[in-house]
Amino acid sequence: METVHNFINGQIAESSTERFGAVFNPATGEQTRQVVFSKAEEAEAAVAAAHAAFPAWKKTPPLRRARVMFKFKELLEANQDKLARLISNEHGKVYSDAVGELTRGLEVVEFACGIPHLQKGESSANVGSGVDSHSIMQPLGVCAGITPFNFPAMVPMWMFPIALATGNTFVLKPSEKDPSLGLMLAELLKEAGLPDGVFNVVNGDKEAVDVLLTDPRVQAVSFVGSTPIAEYIYSTASAHGKRCQALGGAKNHCVLMPDADLEMASGAIVGAGFGAAGERCMALSVVVAVGDETADKLVASLSESINKMRVGPGIVDGPENDMGPVISAQHRDKIVGYIDSGVEQGAKLVVDGRGCQVEGHDNGYFVGPTLFDDVTPDMTIYQDEIFGPVLSVVRVPDYQTALELINRHEYGNGSAIFTRDGETARQFSEDVLAGMVGVNVPIPVPMAFHSFGGWKRSIFGPLNVHGNDGVRFYTRMKTVTTRWPASVRLETHDSHFTMPTMG
Ligand code: NAD
Repeated sequence: METVHNFINGQIAESSTERFGAVFNPATGEQTRQVVFSKAEEAEAAVAAAHAAFPAWKKTPPLRRARVMFKFKELLEANQDKLARLISNEHGKVYSDAVGELTRGLEVVEFACGIPHLQKGESSANVGSGVDSHSIMQPLGVCAGITPFNFPAMVPMWMFPIALATGNTFVLKPSEKDPSLGLMLAELLKEAGLPDGVFNVVNGDKEAVDVLLTDPRVQAVSFVGSTPIAEYIYSTASAHGKRCQALGGAKNHCVLMPDADLEMASGAIVGAGFGAAGERCMALSVVVAVGDETADKLVASLSESINKMRVGPGIVDGPENDMGPVISAQHRDKIVGYIDSGVEQGAKLVVDGRGCQVEGHDNGYFVGPTLFDDVTPDMTIYQDEIFGPVLSVVRVPDYQTALELINRHEYGNGSAIFTRDGETARQFSEDVLAGMVGVNVPIPVPMAFHSFGGWKRSIFGPLNVHGNDGVRFYTRMKTVTTRWPASVRLETHDSHFTMPTMG
C-alpha cells in the first residue's frame, strides 16, 4: 500500500507515525493509499524548515519570486492531465471538473506573477515640507494553510501562490481524504526553482494542525473547511497572536423571480446544484421561487433535466458523466440521512437519489441528484449544510419574503438572483447578506484578481482570500516617513512636544 508522507525542506520526509488515514477511490470504494497522521514533532520540523528558509526568501527580489511562479504555472499546464486524474481518483469529481478546479487555482498563480506590481506599496512626496512617506508591504514569515477535501488543488492555490510571491514561507496541511495533490504541487514548486524549505507539506489531523495554530514561529493561518472547525481554528490561532482567515460552510440560496428566463435559470440551477455532487462551498442548495406558478414551472423543468443526468465515475472512456460519487461511505450515509429527514419532516420528494446504483461500481459512494419541493425554513434540510446533491425549493409569495428568508440564514457565502428586472437585481445585490452575489449567474465565484469570501458564519476574520485581500493578508504594512539632513539641520536643536503635523 502506497503511503503519502510529508514534504519538508525540499524533499519527501517519511513520517515515523503509527497513525494513518485510509485514502479511497470514491468511485470504486477501494482503498488506494494511506496517509500519515504526523506526530507533533514532525509538524514542528516543517515549521522549522519554513522558519529557516524565510530570511533568504524574504530578501529575494519580488521579480525573481514572480519568475518561480511563472515557471510553476507552465508546469501546472504541462502536468494538467496527471493532476486532474489524481484529483478525480481521490476526490471523485468528473475529469473536466477537475481540470476546471486546476484552472481556477492556476489563475491565482497568474495573479501572483504580478507581485512586483501588487507589492509596491504607496508613496507620497511632500507629505510635509521636505518630508516624504512610503509604505513597504513586508512578508509576515511562516504562514500555514489548512485545506478541505473538496478542492484539493484549488483551495491550497488560493493561498500559497500569494503567500510565497509576497516573500513568506509556507506549511500546507492538506485534507487527509485526498492528500496526494499537496505533495505533487510541492514537487512542481521545487522543479520551478523554489528554494528548499520555502514550501512544506505536513499531512495529518488535529495533532499536526494544533502545532500550526500554536507554534510561535507561525505568523498567519489560512483555513478553509466546515464552520465548527473554522471557529476552532480562528479562536485558537487568534489566541496565539496569529493573523487568521478561516472560511467555513455555506447554504447558498438563489431567488427565482417570475420574470426570469426560466429555461436559462433552470439549466444554470441544475449545474450549480449538482456539479461536483454538490460538494462545493458555492454549490446552490436552495431555490427560493417567488410565486406558485414560478415554482411549478421550475420544479417541472428541473425534474426533467435531473432525470436525464448521468451519474458515474469521474473518469470514463466514453461520454463524460455529469456527476461523480461523494467523498466517502460515511458522507454518503449522512446525505441519505438528510434525505430521510426531509421526507419525515414533510417536504415533497420530487426526485429521490437514495439507493443510486452505478453498473460495475457497486461499492462506489454514489448518491443520485435529489430534488425537494415545499421545503420550509424549520426543516433540517433547509437549515443544515448538506454538502451533497440535494436541492431544495422553498416557495414564497414575494421578493421581500425571499430576501428576508436568505438574510435570516446563519450562512452567507454566495447568493444569486434570476430576473430580467435591473432594479430588483440592483436592490438584491445591495441588500442581501452574503459575500458573493450573482445576477443571472448561479455560482458567483470571484476571479483570482478579486477576493473570495462569505459573510456571517461562512467566514471568520476580516480579510478574504486572493485578490487584493490576499496580498494584504500575507503582508504587513510599514510606513516610512523620511526627512533628509538639509531640513533636519535647521531644526537640530529644537524639541517639539506637540503631535507633529506636517503641513
Ligand atoms: P473539515 O472542516 O472537516 O476539514 C477541513 C480541514 O480541517 C482538513 O484539513 C481537516 O484535516 C482539518 N480538521 C478537521 N477536523 C479538525 C480538528 N478537529 N482540528 C483541527 N483540524 C481539523 O472540512 P471538509 O469536510 O474537508 O470540507 C468541507 C467543508 O469545507 C464544507 O463545510 C464546505 O462548505 C467547506 N468549504 C468552504 C469553502 C469556503 O470558501 N467557504 C471552500 C471549500 C470548502
